[in-house]
Amino acid sequence: MSSLFQVLKDLVGWFFGVCFIVLSLGLFFNGSIVGGIASLLFGFGITPLRSKLMLPSKVSFAVLACLFLISCGAVAKVGSETETEKSTAQSGAEVVQNTENVLQTESVVTQAEVEEPETVSEKTDFEETEQRETESKQEQEPKPPVDLPEEQAEKEEVDAELQVHFIDVGQGDATLVISGEHAMLIDAGDDSKGTKVQLYLKNQGVEKLDYLVLTHTDADHIGGADVIVSKFDIANVFIGDFPKDNTVYRDLMQALKTNGLTYSMPKAGNTYALGDAFFTTVAPNREYDNANNSSIGLLLQNGENGFLFTGDAEEEAEQDILTAGFDIDCDVLKAGHHGSRTSNSKALLSAATPAYAVISCEANNSYGHPHAEVLNNLRAMNVQVFRTDEQGSVVAVSDGKQITWNCAPSESWIPGEPTGSMQEDSDEENNVTEGNVTEENVADENDEEEQETDSGQASDLSAGGNYAVNDRNGKIHIVGECTATGTGDKAMINPVYFATYEEAEAYSIQIKPDMDKRRCGNCYK
Ligand SMILES: [Zn+2]
Ligand SMILES: [Zn+2]
Repeated sequence: MSSLFQVLKDLVGWFFGVCFIVLSLGLFFNGSIVGGIASLLFGFGITPLRSKLMLPSKVSFAVLACLFLISCGAVAKVGSETETEKSTAQSGAEVVQNTENVLQTESVVTQAEVEEPETVSEKTDFEETEQRETESKQEQEPKPPVDLPEEQAEKEEVDAELQVHFIDVGQGDATLVISGEHAMLIDAGDDSKGTKVQLYLKNQGVEKLDYLVLTHTDADHIGGADVIVSKFDIANVFIGDFPKDNTVYRDLMQALKTNGLTYSMPKAGNTYALGDAFFTTVAPNREYDNANNSSIGLLLQNGENGFLFTGDAEEEAEQDILTAGFDIDCDVLKAGHHGSRTSNSKALLSAATPAYAVISCEANNSYGHPHAEVLNNLRAMNVQVFRTDEQGSVVAVSDGKQITWNCAPSESWIPGEPTGSMQEDSDEENNVTEGNVTEENVADENDEEEQETDSGQASDLSAGGNYAVNDRNGKIHIVGECTATGTGDKAMINPVYFATYEEAEAYSIQIKPDMDKRRCGNCYK
């Protein structure tokens, strides 16, 4: 009987002894040395081995009881500390008071140092004496580990790079936006620039587009889009829809159909993700009777950096963006309508408060873009201006906090408007507007990227032609004969100039096939 009892007693002793020895390892691992030692001795003490080494049983019982209590205390402390670590950002000072915990904190230090080398504690308790300062550094540096994941998440968000390429497409717009693996193209230049834009995208490693945004249906924005639609995988096509009865528009519709794509006009106020960036549509806010005002406007945001695009929206549509209550505060404004005075109203500029503006237009363009008023207003607001007519393709890179550029801002402040009489000049862009020049012909002949123009000297006047066709109604005017071709209030908004009457008539027929009186009554009396 007694031997059976002895065996049971030994077994129980071994069992709990081993339990406590294992527990001691756990305590050591958690940095609790005293608790670990107590637990180890207690574990050892209750195994049958003890009897051979230990003191009289009365003393040993008291010692064991003490060891047991210390072990339990240590276990309780370690347990509660782990809780605290998880739930609160406990102040370093409190933690430091406990010897055992210093060890614990130090193990956190190494962890924190690896992940957050630049962290400097704000505590001032120890800063009074130099000695202590150095001494305390070790103890202060650890920030509660709880904060690390959050901070890192923030960091990653902020570090995400956004590239915005304002591609030089002569007179027109094409902007490539890249965020990581994601890309968006806003407009595609005119009919002659499709291939150029395609190659530009290819050089940037773009193979598919998350979004193709065609702000509106004017030829200088959608002309090259048929090429883009056939060469890239496109997930979403947005068009500021204002259907037109011309070749360029029909080509685009055909290309979409051929490639099995449909398009939509997003509602103002929608938000879309583009990699780590996102954009919100701010226009159009209603229906308009012209293509420019129907432009899709969008505010692209990457971290703290904002880029505003308004297509060719004119003052009326700009005002509607403000009335709708959109916050359009931004860092970079893609100047509306190629820097035209019909857009970029003071109201819009003061709501947007851009630090930078980018003007996309061609040197010596027939519209006189950018207009002097716009340049003056931007200059008065200390906005730094970049221009594709002077600088070729302009690239902005945002890290979420700061924006860097591939070139210095333009300092010329030279408007594209004629300051004297129109000169006879049949420049190519007029032919281009006709829309019957093929991609292959023009792609080579036209400007290369590095086209550095000295044509900042735009003072030699842009050159319209002798005849101007109103892009909206097809009427043919003789330049200089009527107010429609001037720069005053009665001036037409979208004139297209031609050197010869035949060319003007051909274009007019293209946009308005049926019209009785093609010639303006004022000019042809
Ligand atoms: Zn335009
Ligand atoms: Zn337009």
